[in-house]
Amino acid sequence: MKAAVVESFTAPLVVEDRPVPEPAGRQVLVRMETSGLCHTDVHAAHGDWPVKPGPPFVPGHEGVGIVEAAGERVRHLSVGDRIAVPWLGSACGRCDFCVSGRETLCLEQANTGYSVDGTHAEYALADGDYVMPVPEGIDPLDAAPLTCAGLTTYQAVKVSGACPGSRVLVSGIGGLGHLALQYARISGAETVAVDITDEKLALARELGAGHVLDARTQDVADEVRRLGGADAAICLAVSDESFLAACRALRRNGTLVLVALPAGGSLERPVSETVLDARTVTGSVVGTRQDLAEVFRLHRLGRTRVLRETRRLEDVNLAIDELMSGRMTARIVFDLR
Ligand code: NAD
Ligand code: ZN
Ligand code: ZN
Repeated sequence: MKAAVVESFTAPLVVEDRPVPEPAGRQVLVRMETSGLCHTDVHAAHGDWPVKPGPPFVPGHEGVGIVEAAGERVRHLSVGDRIAVPWLGSACGRCDFCVSGRETLCLEQANTGYSVDGTHAEYALADGDYVMPVPEGIDPLDAAPLTCAGLTTYQAVKVSGACPGSRVLVSGIGGLGHLALQYARISGAETVAVDITDEKLALARELGAGHVLDARTQDVADEVRRLGGADAAICLAVSDESFLAACRALRRNGTLVLVALPAGGSLERPVSETVLDARTVTGSVVGTRQDLAEVFRLHRLGRTRVLRETRRLEDVNLAIDELMSGRMTARIVFDLR
């Protein structure tokens, strides 16, 4: 099978032939139809974060495909089912986080395309208990970005407390941001979208953002404060500077939701500001299997639009360049059919 492989943190990915793996126990073998390119794949390939993956490995955690074979302990899935393979590859299923709807915090989790081989390949192994059936009627090319970009921002918007009458800033209208904007609108909030490329600013307008700000030419915090300040800001841009601007855009009692993970990223603010303005600064990491089921349901109901462009797996390095330029439509997905 063809697979895109990170051989080292300093070299481009290599598309190579690997043997098709065999499922055992609770695993399924998935014949991938498509796999979305998340900015996290680039962080993984560059070894950007303190806990690093071990090359050689296959990145990719927005995988959608068909169950081709199953281990002897898989009961609830059948050969031929269409499933999604998310970032949370598996968890212990027993700890307090796992049993209380916070499985994404499990200390024993495995992460697809990071600690275990991922979905930028013609086949992938996945834990059958942590994959999600893709409902009939959803295009697999849409299901892929929903599996991380959709899931993560669905959860982040919930964490932000977005509701009718609130004002929510979405910073970074890329793969994650274009869906965050839609979930914030579904929640009834007034939305403010921020980006730094003409393409993404146009996309924000097309998706119905209430206000669109260009961080290259406008002072985001000043502009948002002129509107009365943001009740919540969701940080999806891979930039410390954008975190600072989002934080300064908050009104009193506002919530800053950190989602993007720049290499070595940090946010320094005076304690007095957090205390006297009664701010909340929180992180949000992907979402649960239940969240993903809800994300698929909303899409099935026609409430969300996934904007994506297809590329061949052989062009993985070009696709990464495009992602880093911020010029393409919201998400690139590899067509593996
Ligand atoms: P992306 O590259 O598609 O989107 C980032 C967007 O930010 C781009 O549109 C870019 O133009 C814009 N941007 C860059 N600088 C900006 C600035 N100063 N102000 C405003 N916008 C700016 O990336 P993505 O796939 O959406 O991922 C975003 C980040 O989220 C990555 O760091 C990724 O690793 C992280 N992520 C986190 C989670 C989680 O669970 N916390 C899940 C998935 C991805
Ligand atoms: Zn992702
Ligand atoms: Zn656990």
